[in-house]
This record gives sequence, C-alpha cells and structure tokens, in this order.
Amino acid sequence: MRVLVFSDIHANLTALEAVLADAGPVDAHWFLGDLVGYGPDPNECVARVRSLPNLVAVLGNHDAAVLEKMPLNWFNREASNLIRWTQERLTPENFAFLQQLPEAHVQGEVLLVHGSPRAPVTEYILTSEIADEALARTEANFCFVGHTHSPARWQEEDGGVRFCPPVNGEPLPLKPRAILNPGSVGQPRDGDPRAAYALYDTEAQTWTWRRVPYDIGAVQQRMRALGLSPTNVLRLAVGR
Ligand code: ZN
Repeated sequence: MRVLVFSDIHANLTALEAVLADAGPVDAHWFLGDLVGYGPDPNECVARVRSLPNLVAVLGNHDAAVLEKMPLNWFNREASNLIRWTQERLTPENFAFLQQLPEAHVQGEVLLVHGSPRAPVTEYILTSEIADEALARTEANFCFVGHTHSPARWQEEDGGVRFCPPVNGEPLPLKPRAILNPGSVGQPRDGDPRAAYALYDTEAQTWTWRRVPYDIGAVQQRMRALGLSPTNVLRLAVGR
C-alpha cells in the first residue's frame, strides 16, 4: 500500500494541491494534524482533506485551539489572532470534521500523532532525549509525527535514539523502531519553502521524503487581501 503521509497544512490550499498532484495515485492518506492556522484557506483545506479517500487524520494543536480544546495563551499573538479569525469563518460541517478528530490513531504497526506519544497534541520532538522518552511511551514500531514543521527521523538503535538527517527523494528502508516526521505542507520551517510530505510504502517498508514547489506568491496575495499577519506572509517565502 502506498500511503501519502502529510502534516501541518495550515490553511494553505495551493501547497496542499501541489502535494496531492506531486504524490500521484495513493492507496491511503494519513494526515498528522494542523489543518488550519496561518494561511488564507481554512474552509477549502478542511473540505479538500475531508474528501480524500481512505483518510486517517489526527488533531493538531491549532485545530484543538479552534475547537477551544486548548487555551489561546498557549499561542503567540499572531497565531491566536489567526485562531479567532478561523473560528469566525469555519462552516459548521468543517467545524464538525475537526471536532471528531482523535488525538492519536494506531494504524497497523504505526502510531499517528501530531506531537508525540507522551503529549499527542502539544509536545515537540526536537532532541534525541525527547525522542527516546517518546518511544518509551509506545509499543508501536513506528511513530509518525508533525508539529515541528521540519522533516526528521529519530532511529532507535544500540539502546539509544539517534537523529538521522532526512534525504529528499530516495526511498529509505525503515527499521523498527523509529519516529518519522514528513515536514509541513503549508508552513515549512526548515529553511526550504517548498511544500514537504512523505510517501510510506507498507509492503516495501520504505519512507520517501519529497519537496514540491508551489505558487507561494499567490498564497501571499490572498493573505494580504484578507489582512492576515505580514510576518506570516513573509515567512512563507523563506521557509522559517
Ligand atoms: Zn503546525
């Protein structure tokens, strides 16, 4: 089975469409949270993801904030403004879709969460120590996470956990146990502004990171027209 693994769309429909087109036909879509926040297209993105076949999706922290499952003071001013802006615009159908998202989902030998097994919606896996503690909280062979907006792999071996830098475009043979992050579709923060995602082949047991360029200017134009934060407009072009 060929699975599209993607995360952190953040209401950026142009990036999402570029990823779906680049991935080509897949057997399933596994989404790791944060459909909304930052970008100009919350309703369009939720509707598009809802319509994808064989979808599995989990709740992100921005989604949780829109649902008022998380306090707004957890976010910086720009992010919390965007959350309020999104609350005012989401249709009841799209709101209901976010409402039914679980915090964690087990699919075969994979645990899907936005943050980490320890704190599924909020924890950032940014160091080997945190990755080690995270893996101790799950028996799954693989844990797919988003939230940091940076592609990453944390591999368990020789009694420890080590960070392995991601390489784009080449199928990586997976070995248990590992934490994998596909990066962010709509708000990359690893210095590469292209949309990020991954393909997971369940039979071959491989994972492939991919980057795809999209029309960033068009998204920035929509953000400006809506009066969204200039900082968020600018950061799209630099991927930070
Ligand atoms: Zn995010």
